[in-house]
Amino acid sequence: MKKIIFFILTAGSVCTYAQDISKERILDIVSTLASDEMKGRKFGTPENDKAAEYIAAEYKKNNLEYCYGDSYMIPFEYKGQKGYNVCGVKKGKSPESLAFSAHFDHIGTNQKEGDNIYNGADDDASGVATVIGLADYFKDKKTDFSMVFMAFNAEEIGLIGSKALADNQNLNPVFNNIRALFNFEMLATESQFGKNAVFMTGDEFSDFDELINANAANGLKVYPDPYQGQHLFYRSDNVNFVKKKIIAHSISTVDMNKATHYHGVNDDMSIVEADNLTNIINNFAKTIEKLNAGNFQPKYNDKVRYDF
Ligand SMILES: [Zn+2]
Repeated sequence: MKKIIFFILTAGSVCTYAQDISKERILDIVSTLASDEMKGRKFGTPENDKAAEYIAAEYKKNNLEYCYGDSYMIPFEYKGQKGYNVCGVKKGKSPESLAFSAHFDHIGTNQKEGDNIYNGADDDASGVATVIGLADYFKDKKTDFSMVFMAFNAEEIGLIGSKALADNQNLNPVFNNIRALFNFEMLATESQFGKNAVFMTGDEFSDFDELINANAANGLKVYPDPYQGQHLFYRSDNVNFVKKKIIAHSISTVDMNKATHYHGVNDDMSIVEADNLTNIINNFAKTIEKLNAGNFQPKYNDKVRYDF
């Protein structure tokens, strides 16, 4: 009897969880990017290049195609310094695409005694782990939508990397097919709405959140942005795609009323709530898996502005 029960439990868990992204995998991605060796991943540093190379290697493991040319790493220059955005594509049954993005740069180090490294575990290694986790999840699946995976550089100095990528004419064939962009920004801590919950910036401008909630797996819930006064919709990388009239929102869990780690040296592995982060990533993956052109064609209403 014991053996039978053991078999049933094992078989059950294999069926339920075999395709899930593990907490260990997510922790590995976040801790690699947030390690002291990465020295805060500031744009223009060798460690920033190293972070881009790491992400490109993960794209390769997931058999993504290049967005164009012969590399995932797409160079750009800002004030005489060179850096890279990282872009990969997975073909689906339709060329219509969903895009997933996060920024991998952070703010470097300071000159003070003691811990002087801005590890940026939450901001935004957690978002990059979400993007790579989604690539992991869909590696061997054939989806209806094609998928674009982007890691932006130079967000912290003014959304520079995402602008360079959005303005890159070589990418027009990719961007012209994007129906919605999910920009993941700081998901390592529990939201003010509790676990398995996120908020979305610019919820008042489109039906993106309603459509996600209608298809949400395992109780995942997208809440409206509770920090309206901060105009986060216009202050994150998504905005460079809004200018192209692409549906593009940022998704986050950060509790702006309570967070003490924002741009602090304490934004390190100690604040990462890995169970909740992993659960959210898996539930987004399972939600996205259900989406197709029939049930997901989000549109902007006339409140949104494209000229800013
Ligand atoms: Zn950020």
